[in-house]
Amino acid sequence: MQLSVGDNLGRYEIKAELGSGGMGTVYEAIDSTLQRKVAIKVLKPNALADSDGVERFNREAKAIAGLSHPNIISLYDFAEHDDAHYAVMEYADGTTLDECVESVNRDRAIEIAIGMANGLSAAHEGGIIHRDIKPANILLTKDGTPKLTDFGLARQETADHGQTQVGAVLGTIDYMPPEQLRDATAVDARSDLYSLAATLYQMVTGKSPRTVSYTHLRAHETRHDL
Ligand code: ADP
Repeated sequence: MQLSVGDNLGRYEIKAELGSGGMGTVYEAIDSTLQRKVAIKVLKPNALADSDGVERFNREAKAIAGLSHPNIISLYDFAEHDDAHYAVMEYADGTTLDECVESVNRDRAIEIAIGMANGLSAAHEGGIIHRDIKPANILLTKDGTPKLTDFGLARQETADHGQTQVGAVLGTIDYMPPEQLRDATAVDARSDLYSLAATLYQMVTGKSPRTVSYTHLRAHETRHDL
């Protein structure tokens, strides 16, 4: 579903398109009831794969909505409009870490990593694993606060089977631990810590944390193939 400025999605009025990623398109919008700015991610039609995917996401959304932490983008709502599913989130005025990862100095890198670790710790205590920690999923607000985003969505992206999985894994492989490359569904909190460390490595060295060559990763390969 392509939305234009001025369109309404339920009670939300679209103000601008912020960008597109693997799972869908993100818009800046105004919640007309509460009169506040929000970010809305409209998921691609196949993003949740099937009704099981929607159910799973709904379940996770409830857990994520219960998280309230300064280093996690809050999830306000998850709804459906004309068969399109969309997540309404806290709006973060700033940039993604991806856009400035080459230019952060060591002290700032440590500060960002501490913020991410605090956010992750709260998520893990709530039983939620992110599964796709990477610079593109870290928003830096104007006051410098790092905020983790795409909780739950990341799970869908990596847990899907078939084509979706291949495409999704290629996008984020650099930050994934080996066990997650082997089986996207068999991860726990430690996998997030690996990805956090990979992100810190990139901030400090300016180099990609890639450890596995793309050419070695195919959809059905197991660990001994890597
Ligand atoms: P990707 O999959 O590449 O991470 P996303 O689809 O998650 O991209 O987001 C696209 C763009 O939308 C991001 O680059 C970011 O600038 C913006 N964005 C995402 N979430 C928010 C948010 N909560 N507040 C403000 N901007 C956001």
